[in-house]
Amino acid sequence: MKRALVIGSPVTHSRSPMIHGYWLKRHGIDGSYEKQTVLPTELTEFLGNLQRDGYAGCNITLPHKEAAALLIPNLDDRARRTGSVNTVYIENGEQHATSTDGQGFVANLKWRVPQLQLNGINVALLGAGGSARAIIDELLRQNVGRITIVNRTEQRAHDLAQHFGVGVAAASFSDLPELLPTTDLLINTTSAGIADAERIPLDFSRLAQSAVVTDINYVPLITPFLREAAAAGHPIVGGLGMLLHQAVFGFSKWFGVTPEVTEDLYDLVARDIDPDYHR
Ligand code: NDP
Repeated sequence: MKRALVIGSPVTHSRSPMIHGYWLKRHGIDGSYEKQTVLPTELTEFLGNLQRDGYAGCNITLPHKEAAALLIPNLDDRARRTGSVNTVYIENGEQHATSTDGQGFVANLKWRVPQLQLNGINVALLGAGGSARAIIDELLRQNVGRITIVNRTEQRAHDLAQHFGVGVAAASFSDLPELLPTTDLLINTTSAGIADAERIPLDFSRLAQSAVVTDINYVPLITPFLREAAAAGHPIVGGLGMLLHQAVFGFSKWFGVTPEVTEDLYDLVARDIDPDYHR
C-alpha cells in the first residue's frame, strides 16, 4: 500500500486528506493519505525517516515550507526560485521537492476563466509573502507583461521585485488609483480582507472593467474582497480551486495516476468549508 501525508503545525484543519482521499477512492487505489503535526524542532528527524517510515512522499505546509527547502537534497527549478517547497517525493531512493502553489494558482485561473490569455497582460498583486513569491514565479513563466507588487510593508515588495528583476516592480497602496485602470488581473495574496473588518483599501471603480479579480484565500469561499469586485461587475475567481489544483502533481508522483480536478471534488470541499454552499 502506498502512503503519503501532509505535515505542518497546525495541520488539524488541512483539507488535503479530503482531496487525496477523494482521488484514492475514485481511482480505486490501495493507498492512504494522512495528516501529522510536526513541530519545527521535529522537521529534520521527520524528513530523515520519511522513506524508512514507508511514505512515498508528503505535502509540507506552514510553517515548514522554507525550512524544508534547506533540508531536501534535490530541488527543482520552481523550489529553488521560490526558496520554498510544498511537495516531497522519492525518486531512485532520494528525496526530491517542488513548489506547486504557483502552478495551482494558474491552473485554477485557466479552469475558471478559460478565455483569459496571460501572455502580455498587466498584473497587480497584493501581498509579498510566500504565496506571492510562488505566484509571481509562475506568472513570469506564463509570459505576463508586467507584475506590480503592492504590499503593506513596502520594503518587502521592493525586495521581492528585486529578487525577480525584469518585468516585476513594486508600488504602494497609494499608487493603486493610477495602477488600476491599466490592470488586467488583480490578485489578493494577503491574508487581509478575509474578515469584513479588515477591508483592503481599494476602489474597484478605478479598475479596468474587463479585469479579472482573484483571491487565494478560500475561507470564506467568496471573500469580502471578491464580493466587492463582483458587485463592481468583475469576473471573480476564488482560492479553493488553487488548493485543489496544487494537489495534482503530488498525487501523480506518489500514487502513479494524474487525477482530475472536478466540480464534484470542488463541491465536496466547498461544503466542508461552508455547509450552506450551493454550486
Ligand atoms: P505570508 O504570511 O507569507 O504573507 C502574508 C501577506 O499578507 C504579507 O504580504 C502581509 O503583509 C499581508 N498582510 C497580512 N495582514 C495584512 C493586513 N491586515 N493588511 C495588509 N496586508 C496584510 O502568507 P502566505 O503568502 O503564505 O499566505 C497568504 C494567504 O494565502 C493566507 O491567508 C493563506 O491561507 C492563503 N493561501 C492559500 C493557498 C491556496 O491554495 N488557495 C495557498 C497558500 C496560501 P506584510 O508584509 O506587510 O506583513
